[in-house]
Amino acid sequence: MTISKKIAGFLSQASWIRKMFEEGERLRAIYGADKVYDFTLGNPDVEPPAAFKEELRKLAANPIPGMHRYMSNAGYEETRRAVAEVLAEDTGLPFSARHVVMTVGAGGGLNVVLKTLLDQGDEVIVLTPYFVEYRFYADNHGGVIKEVPTGPDFQPDLTALEKAITPATKAVIINSPNNPTGVIYGAGCLAELGKLLDKKGEELGTTIYLISDEPYAKIVYDGIEVPSVFQFTRNSIVITSHSKDLALPGERIGYIAVHPEIDESDLLLEGLVFCNRTLGFVNAPALMQRLVAKLQREKVDIAAYQEKRDLLYNHLVSLGFEVVKPQGAFYLFPRSPLPDDLEFARLAQKYNILVVPGSGFGLPGYFRISYCISKQIILNSLPAWTKLAQELGL
Ligand code: PLP
Repeated sequence: MTISKKIAGFLSQASWIRKMFEEGERLRAIYGADKVYDFTLGNPDVEPPAAFKEELRKLAANPIPGMHRYMSNAGYEETRRAVAEVLAEDTGLPFSARHVVMTVGAGGGLNVVLKTLLDQGDEVIVLTPYFVEYRFYADNHGGVIKEVPTGPDFQPDLTALEKAITPATKAVIINSPNNPTGVIYGAGCLAELGKLLDKKGEELGTTIYLISDEPYAKIVYDGIEVPSVFQFTRNSIVITSHSKDLALPGERIGYIAVHPEIDESDLLLEGLVFCNRTLGFVNAPALMQRLVAKLQREKVDIAAYQEKRDLLYNHLVSLGFEVVKPQGAFYLFPRSPLPDDLEFARLAQKYNILVVPGSGFGLPGYFRISYCISKQIILNSLPAWTKLAQELGL
């Protein structure tokens, strides 16, 4: 074997995701792209907002001397200040540029934070279902993922969470609005969670960090607001990106923001900047930093996502699927009508419907629909969902 046994093992566990992708390609070649209903990828189909294109044009027309050079590993001061100003305005907390580290997307940011915090064997709690990359990111830095089930409607179960905390618990990762369920955690729940982590940290003589992974924070529906975790515990770290809210996933731009009163903030911030460099990112993409500095209040067209959510949610519910109505992100996570979610995903393929089994998110018995695809494909898919429901006898 040429590659490591560990990576070979990870590849074999995830091989059905690759198979799903290959199946999509095969079906598209046979039936044409408009007759294959591929709900597997979280790759936004919308364009970035007009303001992004405007800023890009301005910068291209008036390049800043030295704009392609290396910079401070934390990113441009101007960009970090722009992010901090918005955070201060939204939370009332004294954020400044020093609390912000620009990163290579949220994925890069999560790796930088975990690298900075974890010693070998440290535990990181995640709530099922969860973005499965957390498992690999924690492993990258010697950490171990501990899965804790969520309660009704995929909300955190704080009793289960409390039981899972040990002296080795270094952090809890939450993700709201959530991938794959689309649910949002309310202020009451976050307040309880913050209190719990502070209490357990005190009891154990440790710091348990609340890591909030928030790339979907601006993709919310029905006028709901996502409460900021910074209000609920000072040992909180937010990681986000503009992959979804500005539809820039290929540009790899995001940031880490650290609560101004976090434990040992100087050392932590120094560690984050060091890890951003030594993980090989060096710094976040320069051009994107210049642009997003001017776009902190911008976002993609949320109404278009909400229309897609409503189309699919209403149709699935009318067919008898059991679905928690998502309030954000661009995913639905219905219960699988068959006990085996892999078998369900295979059956759906018969109708050219491609979905990801819940097993891929640490929760078998469900499946994920990603609806960041064209409205036309969603409309084309509705009769196929009806036929699938009929075959299942829903
Ligand atoms: N976290 C969650 C929950 C995600 O769904 C994703 C991407 O889909 C990421 C992190 C990674 O985002 P980025 O593209 O900014 O690295």
